[in-house]
Amino acid sequence: MYNAESISKVLKGELLQQTGNPEIEHILLDSRKLSFPETSLFIPLVSSRRNAHQYIPELYEKGVSNFIVSEPVPEGKYPKANIILVKDTMQALHSLVAWHRQQFHIPVIGITGSNGKTIVKEWLYQLLEKDYNIIRSPKSYNSQIGVPLSVWPTKQEHTLAIFEAGISQPGEMEHLEKIIRPTVGIFTNIGEAHNEGFLNIRQKINEKLVLFSKSELLIYCKDYLALNECVLNFHNLVGKKDSHESGLQLFSWSRKTEADLRITSVDKSEHDSRINALYQTTPIHITIPFVDEGSVENAIHCWALMLHLGMSQSVIQQRMDQLGNIAMRLELKQGINNCSVINDSYNSDLGSLTIALEFLQQQQQHPSRTVILSDILQSGKSDASLYEEVASLLLQKGINKVIGIGKNITREKKSFQQITGLKSSFFLTTEEFIQQFNQQDFQHETILLKGARVFEFERIGKLLEQKVHQTILEINLSAVAHNVKHYQSLLKPATKLMAMVKAFSYGSGSFEIANLLQFHGVDYLAVAYADEGVELRRTGITMPIMVMNPEPASFDAILQWNLEPEIYSLQLLKLFSEEVQLAGKTGFPVHIKLDTGMHRLGFEKKDIPELARILSESSLLKVNSVFSHLAASEDPAMDHLTKQQGQLFFEMSHELQKALGYAVIRHIANSAAIERHPDLQLDMVRLGIGMYGIDSANTIQDQLRPVSTLKTTVAQVKHLAAGDTVGYGAKWVAKGPSVTATVRIGYADGYPRRLSNGQGKMLVRGQLAPVAGIVAMDMVMLDVTHIPDVTEGDEVIVFGDTLPVQQLAVWADTIPYEILTGISQRVKRVYFEE
Ligand SMILES: *Cc1c(COP(=O)(O)O)cnc(C)c1O
Repeated sequence: MYNAESISKVLKGELLQQTGNPEIEHILLDSRKLSFPETSLFIPLVSSRRNAHQYIPELYEKGVSNFIVSEPVPEGKYPKANIILVKDTMQALHSLVAWHRQQFHIPVIGITGSNGKTIVKEWLYQLLEKDYNIIRSPKSYNSQIGVPLSVWPTKQEHTLAIFEAGISQPGEMEHLEKIIRPTVGIFTNIGEAHNEGFLNIRQKINEKLVLFSKSELLIYCKDYLALNECVLNFHNLVGKKDSHESGLQLFSWSRKTEADLRITSVDKSEHDSRINALYQTTPIHITIPFVDEGSVENAIHCWALMLHLGMSQSVIQQRMDQLGNIAMRLELKQGINNCSVINDSYNSDLGSLTIALEFLQQQQQHPSRTVILSDILQSGKSDASLYEEVASLLLQKGINKVIGIGKNITREKKSFQQITGLKSSFFLTTEEFIQQFNQQDFQHETILLKGARVFEFERIGKLLEQKVHQTILEINLSAVAHNVKHYQSLLKPATKLMAMVKAFSYGSGSFEIANLLQFHGVDYLAVAYADEGVELRRTGITMPIMVMNPEPASFDAILQWNLEPEIYSLQLLKLFSEEVQLAGKTGFPVHIKLDTGMHRLGFEKKDIPELARILSESSLLKVNSVFSHLAASEDPAMDHLTKQQGQLFFEMSHELQKALGYAVIRHIANSAAIERHPDLQLDMVRLGIGMYGIDSANTIQDQLRPVSTLKTTVAQVKHLAAGDTVGYGAKWVAKGPSVTATVRIGYADGYPRRLSNGQGKMLVRGQLAPVAGIVAMDMVMLDVTHIPDVTEGDEVIVFGDTLPVQQLAVWADTIPYEILTGISQRVKRVYFEE
């Protein structure tokens, strides 16, 4: 049991004040995620941009009474709190959890590598859950913050732990090693992902190997040459170090050479793969219900571990046969009756329930939130206290309705019924729920489906989700968050961030993105037209919103919804002032646009005295910011123009501020300027395309993550003879026997007609297939002659991670902005978080 006193001792911190000594159970790093105030310890992390100490008053108000701080706190301000002072809060977090880890003497599996960490972890969980009470990292919690949060809930009842570790720069693994202290390691593989931050691949491998400095065994694949060499060196260094320790043993597998587990062949059929191997000279095999290479590799890692654990080959075989898909993400889909559905129906444990509830809590679009929850399997707690805890979690997260499915949750329904304001109903089985299902019971709500695999909640998902046209645009919200954070890291500490969500957030959807940005503490939003802003307000976005094209017809809406117009001419200034006066308001916020060389919209230098005079003589308007737009910030050849614009902006904004007599936010930098012209970051920057994963200057592209994937499906496959023609105007002629696939996307979806006749290509079964003939309104034909086994229903990638939208733009002779914003509204957007 921990309390402030014992934790302070562990950390060698200074116990600034102590009042009582309540038990501490939870670590809280993000003030928005507070669930259990009485038993939480808040550790405010500090970065160059954010200092979480600012949330202490708010959390104290909400009943948190344990804090670790690295800054002095005003004496007497928190009379009921226990406060521990340390030098560095991140270090304290790491030391505390490392110390907690020392309390356990169970096998701990540590997983690192470039790809597959989460799948291997989740598969091991599926494969071993019958034999062990397992604690594992939730989702992909593998960072400097995610790892401590994963390890902290380890309890005496656990008999096996599985944690993943990921790093982005040298020096990080040392911390994670102390926290995880794996007894067995798995190095999944090494790829080029996240090579940034490292000099080269060997430096990256060596850094990752640090995780296994104290391990007894390391499982890895010999076939990655650099990895094999680094592992052998590492083994020489640590493996034989201490005579009293047994050192590190290696367990290798290979498809090419001698190894502990020698893979002799992999036979793939339509739906499964049989993997044959030699182990200690005995031929053995497993069959997995997957055919892709990644799955084969991940399964072999799991196999090696099970062999090491001494499990019988027949048990291994039987469990491998039942490996299931891992939902790597929380998807947000459109549901029936104007609902939204978050489908997380593959496992249920407290950790992942908490994460899913946090995601649900962030959704503002509907007035009410519903959770459909199955029995929670595997927790090591008694049912009564478990469902007490779940019920109080639902209360904390503001859930309005819960539907419990399963014997256990039904038995404990009292815990839920005693919460006022929480509607509840219970069913013994999924089948029973489905039989009594009535569409009309679900209206305007966000519904979280959270069930263990055996409950087959995907059947409920089918009832609640709207059927979609098979062409979809997937938006990775985690990637947007990553990109925003990356740009934030490039900013000077005091510089604010305005996010450009005009044009339906560059095609990615409006409130879903805005909601995320609001959550991540972006300062401002900008839209092109007032109705976009109104839409955001209606869906619960409360942060300031600038409107760049405030037409007189929309003034009403601007005033009513508290939007902030861009004023770019004296005429507009006059008209808008009159409207403000009519409405009886004063000090209404506006943004002044200056033209410094783009020659699109904005006041020119000669207008400034007149503008300043009008503004300072009236109290109707308050200038919140003054800004200008750069014409070519991404282009080194045009840097003289950018400099000149910057200089002119500086002079004009200075003149205006002086006349106004108060300070206003100045901003001129767009995405490319943030990185290329840091001296122009000023008081705020306007981030657009970069947030969506595209670096138009192409200098930090490898540090951004692609956000959107446009996918469609094959509607029909045709076998043609030489001379047959394809499509309108018979523009494509088969040179020999050919196969084409007709896919469900056309120019009406935003696929450019310019990409006709081989100009564009799509990915079918991982291979590029050129467009055959003319792009039609709703359909495109692809030449798939060279791609075996293409079948109706196959997924086709139009652009995404492996086929960047930038490439499509080059083929279509345009820019990614046009492709992204051109994807029509009939293409449904599906959002997910990793
Ligand atoms: C669209 C826009 C931006 C964002 O530009 P990116 O190149 O997408 O970063 C910034 N400022 C204004 C005025 C814009 O219209």
